[in-house]
Amino acid sequence: MKVLKFGGTSVGSVKSILSLKKIVEKEARQQPVIVVVSALGGMTDKLLYTAQLALNGDQGWKTEFDAMVDRHHKMIDTIISDPSSRENLFNTVDSLLDQLKSIYFGVFLIHDLSEKTQDAIVSYGERLSSNIVATLIKGTKWFDSRDFIKTERVNDKHTLDSELTYKLVKKAFADLPRVSLVPGFISRDKTTERTTNLGRGGSDYTAAIIAAALNAECLEIWTDVDGFMTADPKVIKTAYTINELSYIEAMELCNFGAKVIYPPTIYPVCVKNIPIKVKNTFNPDNSGTVIKQKAENDRKPIRGISSISGTTLITVTGLSMVGVRGVNRRIFTTLADNGISVFMVSQASSENSTSIGVRDQDAKRAVEVLNKEYEKEIETGAMFPMHAESNLATIAIVGENMKHTPGIAGKLFGTLGRSGVSVIACAQGASETNISFVVEGQSLRKSLNVLHDSFFLSEYKVLNLFICGVGTVGGKLLEQIKSQYEELKERSRLKLNVVGIASSKKAIFNRDGIDLNHYHELLEESEPSNAEKLKTSILGMNIFNSVFVDCTASKDIASLYQDLLEHNISIIAANKIAASSEYENYAQLKQTALQRGVLFRFETNVGAGLPIIGTINDLKHSGDKILKIEAVLSGTLNFIFNELSAKVPFSETVRRAKEQGYSEPDPRIDLSGTDVVRKLVILSREAGYRVELSDVKKELFIPSDFFNSTEEEFWKNLPSLDESFEQKRKELEAQGKKWRFVATLDHGETQVALKAVDHNHPFYNLEGSNNIVLLTTERYKEYPMQIQGYGAGASVTAAGVFANIMSIANI
Ligand code: ADP
Ligand code: ASP
Ligand code: MG
Repeated sequence: MKVLKFGGTSVGSVKSILSLKKIVEKEARQQPVIVVVSALGGMTDKLLYTAQLALNGDQGWKTEFDAMVDRHHKMIDTIISDPSSRENLFNTVDSLLDQLKSIYFGVFLIHDLSEKTQDAIVSYGERLSSNIVATLIKGTKWFDSRDFIKTERVNDKHTLDSELTYKLVKKAFADLPRVSLVPGFISRDKTTERTTNLGRGGSDYTAAIIAAALNAECLEIWTDVDGFMTADPKVIKTAYTINELSYIEAMELCNFGAKVIYPPTIYPVCVKNIPIKVKNTFNPDNSGTVIKQKAENDRKPIRGISSISGTTLITVTGLSMVGVRGVNRRIFTTLADNGISVFMVSQASSENSTSIGVRDQDAKRAVEVLNKEYEKEIETGAMFPMHAESNLATIAIVGENMKHTPGIAGKLFGTLGRSGVSVIACAQGASETNISFVVEGQSLRKSLNVLHDSFFLSEYKVLNLFICGVGTVGGKLLEQIKSQYEELKERSRLKLNVVGIASSKKAIFNRDGIDLNHYHELLEESEPSNAEKLKTSILGMNIFNSVFVDCTASKDIASLYQDLLEHNISIIAANKIAASSEYENYAQLKQTALQRGVLFRFETNVGAGLPIIGTINDLKHSGDKILKIEAVLSGTLNFIFNELSAKVPFSETVRRAKEQGYSEPDPRIDLSGTDVVRKLVILSREAGYRVELSDVKKELFIPSDFFNSTEEEFWKNLPSLDESFEQKRKELEAQGKKWRFVATLDHGETQVALKAVDHNHPFYNLEGSNNIVLLTTERYKEYPMQIQGYGAGASVTAAGVFANIMSIANI
């Protein structure tokens, strides 16, 4: 014999109820089955809500009630085709609904809703649904569970009288029909005979009690997910079904919010060693989960994660507590006497403070009764008044394998720390099957995600990317991410999830990943954004393993870095503004990244995709010292001086640089050396020198008044320089030399200047817009290290940004 329980969603729609019918009929061919059903999905909430409307004198209760009638009628009309069965069922259902209506009307008239009345109201959900299912499945016998599920009043709560109930269940099912149909959840007080219930979610418990009383072969819980999963699939999209788990593990997970099974359900079947199967009504072929005494060892350190939000931590603290006996006894007795349940306790070994986790709704009362209990001690100053912190969340990681695996707590807290989640309190039972801890409510989702990722999906590392700027570099980067996605997933076990994209005016977000084929259209359709809004949205998403990628040249965006880093978001910047801003700012950003365990990387600030900054850092880390840097860092200026010839005058080379996209939109930024100065400052800082922009000596090749006029005047006056350039060029040509705009760091001194180099110099043959860097270090002294290649261009820059992103994936 088996007991099959179907939850609200399994009887909530025509599709699900027909699936239920098939499942039950198939099982009943093998053996007798007892089917326990919940109310139609969402019905219990509606019954309670409507009762509140009636209590408040709100006429709206009628509309809600009519909707309930309509829902049940429609369901019957659709699924019961036989006219006489249908008529009988309508009679039963309508008489129940009439009673319900009268109760609501009474509540409405006298403005009173006692617990007794509410219990009566809420029982109609299961009474209605069970009659419908009993008619749907031919040859079924319907039972009123109130006749055998008996409760008594203990601590002001309905509590099962197991002994009596077991006796009555055995009697009720002495002759076992092929299919028995039982409403879940509802019960009757053994003394007063009033209708009671087993608490929200209690249909699971009804089924377990029957299974235990009758020594069923198995208890099956049919629901709307593929079994007991590693975490709540509504929160963690990557949660997956656990094949097997032990009673202890299931109990620990359910006690901490795994709603899939009502916690009291497990004990009665565990005692009888009856396995529980959790299966999906919508996907009956899936094997689901088996809960039993000894579950298979899946070699994972933990079996599942669960959580409860809306928790409060009450701290009982005072100097008199140290070594005093009985303080804890008084705390727990006081709370128990007042019907407040405690789900977590943490006490430091110094014994002067005990933290207790309770539900938010119990917090106020808990503080009151504890303050009262310790009134005298508080008055004398030996103890402090209770301190309560609400809106927290409690998370539990559970698994019997924890006993044998060292380092679980380390991994747990390390993972949370790297994501910027601070743990407010924690507790581990000596059984070592559960570590529970408390975090801010707003960190709950993020904590669950990072933990799930690190304990269950370690085969994939996920990076959540916010890409800011969709111009040439940002656009190319998105293309590269799209084309490499599968390859990285397969080969490197890395998922690059683009969760945010911002242009200069708009932004889109999707924590499950943006469709990179259509981000342009999605941006078009989205709301206007700006830097501040962008920051608010990113921080609001509070997503784990986040990386902010700045492909803009915007000062406003650069000013967000500090806040983002403080929230444990790594920064990859193609934007040079932050790294070349005041030294203090640069240093603080680096310091914050270090403290937070995230990265602030800006490799492409110098030499686009060339590995210059990374190399300098690698040398430094290995104990080398950078003595001198000589570099041609402006692709634009190099292009200009390479183009210059007898046929192409200076002004024309500048024009070409602009037209071919080598220069900044206003080429004076290049000609004034501003861009090179920034790059030199960044390199010098990375090499270990404290340098500001103003420290760099500049020897420019264009008179300064060219930079003070308007852009239009600049272009007009530019040809006036052609003659002198041509003259100098000829002289250089005669000497076999070429011009290069060279940036130099020499023992801390920085300079940019136009220099003539001969054919022996490594800079002489620098083609097109290439860059070159010579690093003289203590180890590379006689022959400096040389890095050379394209120093500009969207593809190579995007590739450099990509490389920086990959460096985060590898930490
Ligand atoms: P029913 O109406 O069938 O009793 P419930 O809503 O009470 O269904 O329980 C099923 C729900 O439990 C799932 O839809 C899921 O969102 C939630 N849930 C929470 N934690 C887990 C978990 N670890 N595994 C599966 N489901 C879970
Ligand atoms: N219908 C009840 C509830 O929603 C009992 C159950 O579904 O298990 O809480
Ligand atoms: Mg349930």
